Amino acid sequence: MNKDHNQVWQSCLEVIKDNVSPQGFKTWFEPIKPVKLEDNILTIQVPSQFFYEWLEEHYVTLLKKIIRKELGTDGRLEYSIIMENNHNNSNPYTIKVPTSNRKAVKNAPVSMPLDMGESPIKNPFIIPGLRKLNVDSNLNPNYSFENFIEGDCNRLARSAGYAVANKPGGTAFNPLLIYGGVGLGKTHLAHAIGIEIKNKYPEKTVLYVSSEKFTHQFIDAVRNNTVNDFSHFYQMMDVLIIDDVQFFSGKEKTQDVFFHIFNHLHQTGKQIILTSDKPPVEMQGMEQRLLSRFKWGLSADLQVPSLETRIAILKKKMYSDGIDLPDEVVEYLAYSITTNVRELEGALISLIAQSSLNKKSINLELAKQMIDKFVKNTAREVSIDYIQKVVCDYFDLPIELLKSKTRKREIVQARQIAMYFAKKMTKSSLASIGAHCGGKDHATVLHACRTVNNLQETDKHFRKYLEDLEKKLSIS
Ligand code: ADP
Ligand code: MG
Repeated sequence: MNKDHNQVWQSCLEVIKDNVSPQGFKTWFEPIKPVKLEDNILTIQVPSQFFYEWLEEHYVTLLKKIIRKELGTDGRLEYSIIMENNHNNSNPYTIKVPTSNRKAVKNAPVSMPLDMGESPIKNPFIIPGLRKLNVDSNLNPNYSFENFIEGDCNRLARSAGYAVANKPGGTAFNPLLIYGGVGLGKTHLAHAIGIEIKNKYPEKTVLYVSSEKFTHQFIDAVRNNTVNDFSHFYQMMDVLIIDDVQFFSGKEKTQDVFFHIFNHLHQTGKQIILTSDKPPVEMQGMEQRLLSRFKWGLSADLQVPSLETRIAILKKKMYSDGIDLPDEVVEYLAYSITTNVRELEGALISLIAQSSLNKKSINLELAKQMIDKFVKNTAREVSIDYIQKVVCDYFDLPIELLKSKTRKREIVQARQIAMYFAKKMTKSSLASIGAHCGGKDHATVLHACRTVNNLQETDKHFRKYLEDLEKKLSIS
């Protein structure tokens, strides 16, 4: 036999190419280098032990057949595994591994190039003889479905997430992309799906990773020459959750490696869950081929929760923390902080901290002082809803009437006062104030403001109402 190792491997590759998927070929065979051919033993170099394990597990029959065809029945294949030791000294060394004897590698050191940050993976790769990956999923048990309050704002995303958790990789929602503004529960929901999958399918390998951490790991892998291990590690996941993918924007290399991981997982029926602060159409600096893949599955958004949902979230949080607060305080918080659940929870926590530090009981007064400090002044303004609530409480009227079109005298007056304060204390336009107060137009609001101004000059009872209300509404 006078073929050399390159020629033999080349003939092998031709057969392999016809027998595996293009993606499989690219991933698992292109990186292999033939090293030598001696005593009818072909030695090939593979990038990592994991790589070797994978080949043995998935392609051993094919490889055996091909070697027999190329080298005859006594032909053998040996692997040379590049080992990265901890000090990043990438001297490759060879272990002889006959295809028929997997145990030969048992005592070989296993490389651990991936640093998973605060929760290290004990051994991210194969423990020889074991198939299961020992991966810390990085899931926060507090972010469960049970703790995630359902509302109109999140119904689609939540039920899609639940469907995915029941049948990971087996629904049309792959990838599932959850998007929405800051603090609206994207991370929470992503964890909830992961936790639910782990509960239902403990054998599945689930991994939650922020796109930031993913990017840093990738950069490290490039620096340490372990990009192959990096991608293979991610390709082993059954469920991959990547949080805040908008962070990939403008990072071409990271997008590229993610693209291949994505394809591999998707093709093999694994579940991908992504979150982002904006919908795919608005993601700048993201490669088109990635964006188009994001749209393959379902994009579901999280909206700002309604007042009722905000109250329910606060109550749930209080319940799980074992705290009790007067309803008016809870309502005040929910009325005041409207666009961000994280801030809402932050306000609750500060309030509790304040009260226990100063040994003051938590009442509306304290809540108002705290909110004023907590929420940045520029962003801080009472809402029209809150003004309406305070005015209605003061006059003991149901808020629905104020928002209705009724022309009953006492309602008309309360409505006018609410409009007056809305004009005075918020930046809302006359038109939007009108829309909030029984669907009136801007002229009606302007008329209301004039009427209130006139009345407070002529009627001292009326002036007293306004002063009382102003005190209730003012924040500090
Ligand atoms: P995002 O990732 O969208 O910025 P997070 O998932 O970090 O937001 O949510 C911020 C906080 O709000 C978390 O503590 C989360 O538990 C809480 N939260 C958000 N939405 C809900 C909800 N529907 N029910 C209960 N808690 C929620
Ligand atoms: Mg988040």
